[in-house]
Amino acid sequence: MKKIAILGSTGSIGTQTLEVVEAQKDIEVTALAAGSNIALLEVQIRKFRPKTACVWDEQKAKELKSSVRDLPVRILSGMEGLMEAAIEPSSDMVVTAVVGMIGIRPTIAAMEAGKDIALANKETLVTAGHIIMPLAKERGVKILPVDSEHSAIFQCLNGEHKNTIHKILLTASGGPFRGRTRKEMESVQVEDALNHPNWSMGRKITIDSSTMVNKGLEVMEAKWLFGVEMDQVQVVIQPKSIIHSMVEFEDGAVMAQLGTPDMKLPIQYALYYPERRPLSGDRLDFWIMGQIAFEKPDMVNFPGLGLAYEAGRTGGTLPTVFNAANERAVSKFLNREIPYLAITDMIEGAMNGHTVKDSPTVEEILEAEAAAYEYIESRW
Ligand code: NDP
Ligand code: MG
Repeated sequence: MKKIAILGSTGSIGTQTLEVVEAQKDIEVTALAAGSNIALLEVQIRKFRPKTACVWDEQKAKELKSSVRDLPVRILSGMEGLMEAAIEPSSDMVVTAVVGMIGIRPTIAAMEAGKDIALANKETLVTAGHIIMPLAKERGVKILPVDSEHSAIFQCLNGEHKNTIHKILLTASGGPFRGRTRKEMESVQVEDALNHPNWSMGRKITIDSSTMVNKGLEVMEAKWLFGVEMDQVQVVIQPKSIIHSMVEFEDGAVMAQLGTPDMKLPIQYALYYPERRPLSGDRLDFWIMGQIAFEKPDMVNFPGLGLAYEAGRTGGTLPTVFNAANERAVSKFLNREIPYLAITDMIEGAMNGHTVKDSPTVEEILEAEAAAYEYIESRW
């Protein structure tokens, strides 16, 4: 029986992972971790009976400890607890479904303990890919992509040699504001930006999808996962999210993976790879679909994508600054402290003011994160 820990179990990816576990019935859940939602975490603990659970917030952890005292579960808190949950001795795999750079240290700890990673937490790879990818090789652990585009690419590469990739065609819906000018986005409110046309996801990634910053993070994620250059990753707008991504090989052949927009497929594929399992849900109906349309991405009105290419090409600490500035700016936008367009303005400002350090250590990555936060606080 496969044994998994889920970091971020109460979120969009975390809850869907547990739905897959429930439907398949042959995975044991060893550890769960959340930020503060102890009501849902308690329900999950009672249902899946993990050995360890972690709540970031110390006070909430105390409350949870008291409410599950009838069960043999260890309740932990903070970064130490999150790291413990990541290395829970009985698990073979860790699903990293926390949001943001907070995932770096637990992901590294899990890999050092020999766990395979089902990676949803793209911010970790974007900021620390130069540490994560060699570590995976050194420890002989697998990094299995959960992000739908990267799962699609991974599926297209089955049985192929990575050195025959000519380019990766990373598809994007374009988000709710596709076709708008920056002027037309000046008055965008939180509710507008949270209204994604195809996918239902956590709040942060939904905002990132609307600014195209998510696609920028995904280009960097693809660079690390598949060992390609930034400029080998081409973003293709495909508004209905039917093609989840494609690979063009050196002989001109293009492989694509298609499906309905359902994260349970890439989650399940990562959990069971290389096995495929039945999955209920909608199927593609090509008669109803009729046609699939494509567009070029608009780098002028969505500067987040161009900034991501710049960050990824430069490397070092610049992707961290791109990501950290975005994390802080998105959180401020969600709290209605800054206007929508300020998100990408802040990323640009933080990147411009940064002196890049090559091959940063984890500490240097966290320093660059703190510097980006400071920059933003000094501006707003
Ligand atoms: P959500 O916001 O829905 O969930 C985030 C999860 O992380 C929650 O369980 C949250 O707990 C937990 N969490 C937050 N902070 C901490 C912390 N400090 N310590 C421990 N747990 C914490 O995010 P998503 O599920 O949408 O996204 C998760 C990751 O997956 C992101 O990196 C995202 O980019 C990526 N991803 C998501 C996709 C999607 O469809 N949702 C698609 C592709 C990638 P609590 O509920 O208590 O706050
Ligand atoms: Mg994606």
